[in-house]
Amino acid sequence: MTRTVKRAFKFRFYPTDVQAAQLSRTFGCVRLVYNLALQARTEAWTQRRERVGYNATSALLTGWKKTGDLAFLNEVSSVPLQQALRHLQTAFGNFWAKRANYPSFKSKKRSRRSAEYTASAFRWRDGTLTLAKMTEPLDIVWSRPLPEGCAPSTVTVSCDAAGRWFVSLLCDDTITQTPATGRVGIDAGLDSLLTLSTGEKITNPRHERVDRQRLARAQRDLARKQKSSANRDKARIKVARIHARIADRRRDHLHKLSTRLVRENQTIVIEDLAVRNMVKNHRLACAISDAAWRQLRTMLEYKAAWHGRDLIVVDRWFPSTRLCSVCGALAERTPLHVRWWTCRCGSTHDRDVNAARNILAVGLAVTACGDGVRPQRESSRTGHSSAKQENPRATKGILVL
Ligand SMILES: [Zn+2]
Repeated sequence: MTRTVKRAFKFRFYPTDVQAAQLSRTFGCVRLVYNLALQARTEAWTQRRERVGYNATSALLTGWKKTGDLAFLNEVSSVPLQQALRHLQTAFGNFWAKRANYPSFKSKKRSRRSAEYTASAFRWRDGTLTLAKMTEPLDIVWSRPLPEGCAPSTVTVSCDAAGRWFVSLLCDDTITQTPATGRVGIDAGLDSLLTLSTGEKITNPRHERVDRQRLARAQRDLARKQKSSANRDKARIKVARIHARIADRRRDHLHKLSTRLVRENQTIVIEDLAVRNMVKNHRLACAISDAAWRQLRTMLEYKAAWHGRDLIVVDRWFPSTRLCSVCGALAERTPLHVRWWTCRCGSTHDRDVNAARNILAVGLAVTACGDGVRPQRESSRTGHSSAKQENPRATKGILVL
């Protein structure tokens, strides 16, 4: 069976000086328009109880372009500015649906510098991409092939903190769905990055430890440099480069892992981190950060959807580490450093593998009776009441599991 999905293909590119200047200007205008529209919407609501939607902000944008102060908005393509208003609309939609906090202003330093172009604002011809307001095509490094005969519907250009330029092309791709029989539960482990119910332990990407040491050193160097000096700028870029390298390697690692898990398994069960966090925050901090876990979950979500797999998110806390996965008896609480324990039934368990097995079992059980799991992402903000009541911290002074 085949299926057509929208898929983003990201490549590095090297802009000419003119292109870099034009894109930097565009990023600035995108940020400004987003912030102005957010301000207008916030004021309309707080002062007049009026809801300003996308169309109204679009009319505002037309007005801004005509005022002397903001006439420079005409120097960049109008499409990324419109897209910024659409993104703001989406952010409000997520806020109203209680999936996200109230939208915040984009900051010059911290926010991602990016601009989104729809089909009317770029030309795609013979495998070359030319953006609106530019004469030359982008010099893209085609590090992997695009699907045969594809034409991108949306193009996003961005520049990261390390000064690297990327272009992401949204294309239709055909996925061949092949059956799989495996089932797997995943636990965010203590010593390893993740532990699977099969007993397999997944470690951090290679070099991560060394990179983190380098990062710490670079950050110390940066802290010693004088404010707004050339050396400080250099040190800042060095820190950003190491950050980028760690993030790239981790993403690559998670891509390979999620692809393999989805290829091998029909059913994948994970625990909702929001629930998890309440009981073993420091434990997770050792192994997998919030961000990495969210990234893995997002990858599993869309890849499972592509391949027709079931991703089950268990969003209720249960004592997964000390519940015997063989007989179901609940063991005594043991300190975190105890890696192995033996149940009354005689089976010996690795703490993390046992937890992963329990996660799998709970996922399969609650799906069978349709209770307690919500495979959608919305689940992270709902259904915590039962978890809070069972939180061991509420009853014990020290955190034990
Ligand atoms: Zn047992």
